[in-house]
Amino acid sequence: MSATPQGHAPIPDELARRYWQAIAVHGDDPATDMCVHCRRHRCPEWAYAVEQLILADLLDSDT
Ligand SMILES: [Zn+2]
Repeated sequence: MSATPQGHAPIPDELARRYWQAIAVHGDDPATDMCVHCRRHRCPEWAYAVEQLILADLLDSDT
């Protein structure tokens, strides 16, 4: 009998890959410190993908 740890929800590999891709596509441009697509620093697309990967324990929350 083990309860699922709060905040750690495994996600399918395909979904994880999509989040990694979103992070790559929407990552901040070092030159402008903004997403080149949304023209925003840490745009919602990026933030969402990062959050999902952290929740799935695939990404360190420090990075
Ligand atoms: Zn973006």
